[in-house]
Amino acid sequence: MYSPDQIKHIHLEPTQRCQAQCPMCDRTNNPHVGKAELSLGNFMQIVDIDFARQLNSLLMCGNHGDPIVSDDILSIFRYLRVNNPKMYLHMTTNAGARDDEWWKELVSILGTRGKVTFSVDGLEDTNHLYRVNVNWKRVEHSMDVFTQAGGRGIWVYLIFEHNEHQVEEAERMAKLFGLEFVRKKTGRWVQSYKGKKVDKKITAKGNEIKPPINPENQNKSVNSYDKLVKSHGSFQEYLDQTNITCKSLATNEIYISAEGLVTPCCWTHGRFYKAYQKMGENQIWSFVDNIKKINALHTPLREIINGNFFMQLEKSWNLPSCSNGKSVVCAEKCGSGFDAFRDQWK
Ligand code: SF4
Ligand code: SF4
Repeated sequence: MYSPDQIKHIHLEPTQRCQAQCPMCDRTNNPHVGKAELSLGNFMQIVDIDFARQLNSLLMCGNHGDPIVSDDILSIFRYLRVNNPKMYLHMTTNAGARDDEWWKELVSILGTRGKVTFSVDGLEDTNHLYRVNVNWKRVEHSMDVFTQAGGRGIWVYLIFEHNEHQVEEAERMAKLFGLEFVRKKTGRWVQSYKGKKVDKKITAKGNEIKPPINPENQNKSVNSYDKLVKSHGSFQEYLDQTNITCKSLATNEIYISAEGLVTPCCWTHGRFYKAYQKMGENQIWSFVDNIKKINALHTPLREIINGNFFMQLEKSWNLPSCSNGKSVVCAEKCGSGFDAFRDQWK
């Protein structure tokens, strides 16, 4: 796919822990997700100083946890900053934790070459409806302390029916904090494993979450899903036929999970642990002969990138169909005719 020395970006999941229960998150009600977490020692074992020096950026986000609750993220960021002063550091969080000193220290480590994305989907009376268990006062206070200390950040606002009337107000508030503001239109209304779109989600607190009503706030790929299915006969037919252009290959990126698993992207990693499947059932497992061979706590990072998993995944893109081994997740996420991820930002 790419050679280890070509890697410029890491997407890191430092922890599988989170205090929230967002209804569209892969960790919510997922029996396969535990409390794995990478310590500074683990991270230094995986990403040695030479590797850290070749990077342009590192994003802490992930599939199954919020970096903010991880014990060692400040020391991991510091390790990267000391060894590579120019690299860009970024963290995405629900912002509902940590004291003032922690936020100020984060600002001092990130400096002018780093940002925080605050995933905040509403205001005082609505944010908790999707970000279940996240305390608004703490979110507001975190944004305040972070920006007052000179931190640079982005408020990313997922738009739903229950919060679309507050987008402009949130944008004004973001400006007051000195934060950029981005509207996000989730594509997760398409649930390909069910072969259909869904029009609501029920949260752990029993609230209904629905897509926004205003078409301008809707994800274009989600809206064109039915048409796509009709023109191909089924979504599976589309996946069999679509050409794949790997986003991670284009950006020279790898993903490292809280257990140390190394994959090209968060999507391939996420398929190992789908709540609706038994472990081993998803097609992604067919690309792995021994899970330790893609775990950087057991196998050196460079060996994994040069190894069988990455190679087989790439080879699969040109196979005639998913039943013949073409990667389903790659066809879904990087196929040429359906890109709900890209359309989140449009
Ligand atoms: S805050 Fe992030 S990690 Fe936590 S439940 Fe929500 S989406 Fe998942
Ligand atoms: S889903 Fe597949 S094709 Fe897309 S970025 Fe990940 S590895 Fe590449």
